[in-house]
Amino acid sequence: MKLEGKGVSVSIRDRELVSRASLHVSGGELVGLIGPNGAGKSTLMRALLGISEKSAGDVLLDGSDFLRMPGRDRARAVAFLPQERRVEWRLPAYDIVMLGRYPHQAGFGGPSPEDRAAVDRSLEAVDGHELSDRPVAVLSGGERTRILLARALAVEAPLLLVDEPIAALDPYHQLHVMEILRDRVHAGAGVLAVIHDLALAERFMDRLILMNAGQIVADGSPAAVLTPDRLAAVYRIAGS
Ligand code: ADP
Ligand code: MG
Repeated sequence: MKLEGKGVSVSIRDRELVSRASLHVSGGELVGLIGPNGAGKSTLMRALLGISEKSAGDVLLDGSDFLRMPGRDRARAVAFLPQERRVEWRLPAYDIVMLGRYPHQAGFGGPSPEDRAAVDRSLEAVDGHELSDRPVAVLSGGERTRILLARALAVEAPLLLVDEPIAALDPYHQLHVMEILRDRVHAGAGVLAVIHDLALAERFMDRLILMNAGQIVADGSPAAVLTPDRLAAVYRIAGS
C-alpha cells in the first residue's frame, strides 16, 4: 500500500505551517521524517491523516482520495502514534492497546479472540506485558510511549505513521522500538517516523525526508540527505 501527499499545505490564521509538501511512503520501506523543532513535521503528518485543522492538496491511498474514505477504512489502513502522549482516561494499559482494535470491531460484540491476540502481540513487541494492568495515567513517559505505540501496532495496519516514537525512551528501548519498526517493514508495512536522532535515522531508515520551515527540502537516502552542508544550513550544527 502507498500513502502519498501531493502539494499538501496547512495554514492556521494566515500563517503557512506546511507549504506544498509532496511525499510518499510505501509498503516495505522505513522512512524518517526529520527536521528541527517547529519545521512542520507533526503538522504534515496530521494533514496526511486528515486531522489537521485546515489543509490543502491531495492525499492518496493507492491512488484514491484518502481523506474522503470512510473513517473506519482510513483507521484500518493507516495507524498513528501522535506526538502528544497525555492520556486522560483512567484505563489500564491493556485497554488502551485494545483501542487500537476499535476500527476492526463490529457493533457490540466486544473484542474477538483475534483482537486479543493482536493486543498480546503488540504488548509483546513493546516489552509491555508487565505494564498491562497498570493505569496508563501513572506510567512513566517512556512506558506510556511504549503502550501508545502498542496501541498503534495493534491496528496491524499496512501503513504506520509514528510521531517521535523513541522520544523519552531509554537507549535500550530506543533501539528496541527501531527494531520493531524494521520488523513491521520486513513484514510488508510502510512506516513513516518522525525522529530526531540522526545517527539512528541513518542506521535504520531506508529513506529520509528533511523538513525545514514548513517545506520539504530533501528526500532521499540517508547519505544523500544528511550532507554536511544541509546539517549546517538546517540544523545549524557542523557536519562530521
Ligand atoms: P514539528 O513537529 O516539526 O516540531 P509542528 O508541526 O508541531 O513542528 O509545528 C510547526 C509550526 O506550527 C510551529 O511553529 C508551531 O508552533 C506551529 N503550530 C502548530 N500547531 C499550531 C496551531 N494549532 N496553531 C498555531 N500554530 C501552530
Ligand atoms: Mg512534532
